[in-house]
Amino acid sequence: MKVIKKMLNPGDTIGILGGGQLGRMMALAASKLGLKTHVYCPDPDSPAFDVTAFHTCADYENEEALEDFANSVARVTYEFENIPSATVEFLKKRLLVLPDEEALRTSQDRLTEKNFFRSIDIQTASFYEVSSQEDLREAVEFIGLPALLKTRRFGYDGKGQVFLKSIEDVDGAFERIGSQPAILESYVPFVKEISVIAARNEKGQIVTYDIAENVHKDQILKTTTVPADINEGIAREARKIGETVADALDYVGVLAVELFLLSETHDHRLVANEMAPRVHNSGHWTESACLISQFEQHIRAVAGWPLGNTDRHSDVVMTNLIGEDIEARQDLLAKYGTAFHDYGKSETRAGRKMGHINRITPKKHG
Ligand code: ADP
Ligand code: MG
Repeated sequence: MKVIKKMLNPGDTIGILGGGQLGRMMALAASKLGLKTHVYCPDPDSPAFDVTAFHTCADYENEEALEDFANSVARVTYEFENIPSATVEFLKKRLLVLPDEEALRTSQDRLTEKNFFRSIDIQTASFYEVSSQEDLREAVEFIGLPALLKTRRFGYDGKGQVFLKSIEDVDGAFERIGSQPAILESYVPFVKEISVIAARNEKGQIVTYDIAENVHKDQILKTTTVPADINEGIAREARKIGETVADALDYVGVLAVELFLLSETHDHRLVANEMAPRVHNSGHWTESACLISQFEQHIRAVAGWPLGNTDRHSDVVMTNLIGEDIEARQDLLAKYGTAFHDYGKSETRAGRKMGHINRITPKKHG
C-alpha cells in the first residue's frame, strides 16, 4: 500500500510502540499539542499506560491486537529500538511508521550500526565480528586489549557486555555473553562522553540541541550536564554528526548519537559509540532548559508539523534517579531550582531508572 504522507490534525492519535518512561514522556508531550496517543506494550505495568488516552497490552507478535492498533491510530512511532522487525513489517503495510525501518535496522545491530557510521565517514572504535569463542581469539589478536565484547543485539545499560582487560579474561568470554552473535570493540580511552540530539522532519528540516556531557556509573547514565565543557569546534563537529546521520537515513523524528571525545593528542577527537532512533535519556534536560523538549520535537516531526526552537535558556544538570534514589522524593521536591520527574513505576529495583531531576541555573555562556 502506498502511504500518502500528510500532516496530522489536532485530536488525531499517534500509536506508540513501547510503554516505558520514554513513551510516557512522548504521550505527555503529544497531549500538550492536542494530539492523543495509543500506547502498545506487552507489559501490563507500563508507566506510559497511566498518561495515554488508549492502550493495548499485548505481545508484539499478536497480529489481531496489532491490526486493531493499526486501525485506531493515524501513524505509529516507537520509544525503543528493539521492536521485532516482523511487527514493523506488519504495521508498515497498513500505515506510516516513523522513524522508518532503515533507522531501526541500522541501530538494532551494533555491527550494522558501526558499518553505517563508517560508510558516512564517522569514526568508530575498531571492531571485529565475533560468532564463536574461536572468532574471539582471532578478534583479540586483531584488535588488541583492552576491549569490550558486546552482543550485537538487545544490549542496554551495559547489559550484554564484558570488558576484557587482559588475556586471562578471554577464555569463556563468549559464553559469558550468552554465546550470541557479538562484536569485539577496542576500548576507547575517552576524556569525556558527549551526545547530540537531533530532530528532522519530512521536509528535511533539521535542528540540533546543545551538546550534552554524560557521566555513566556502572555503565548506566548518571548525569547529563549542558553546556558540555568542550570547545566550539568540537561542539560544531558533534552537531554535524547528528545532522549527517539524520540526513543519511532520511530520518523523521528525534535521534541521539553517543560520542566519545578523545584527548587533544588525537587527530580525530570524536568517535561515535552508538545511535538511538528515538528520544534519549541524555536529552531529558531539554524538558526544563529549553522551550521545546526533545519529546515535543519528536511528536512534531512525527505529526508532520514544524519543528520548534532548540535554544537553551538555562544551564542544567540532569541526574537520573536509579533504584532507591527515588526515595529521596521529598528532599528533591523541595530543592531550589530543581524539577522532579517520577516515571510512576510500581516497583523499585536496583539499577532501574525510576525518574530524574533537572537542576537549572542561570545560563553562563554558550
Ligand atoms: P548501551 O547500549 O548499554 O548504552 P554502550 O555501548 O553505550 O551500550 O556502552 C555503555 C557505556 O560503556 C558507554 O556509555 C561507555 O561509558 C562504556 N563503553 C562502551 N563501549 C566502550 C568502548 N569501546 N570504550 C570505552 N568505553 C566504552
Ligand atoms: Mg549507550
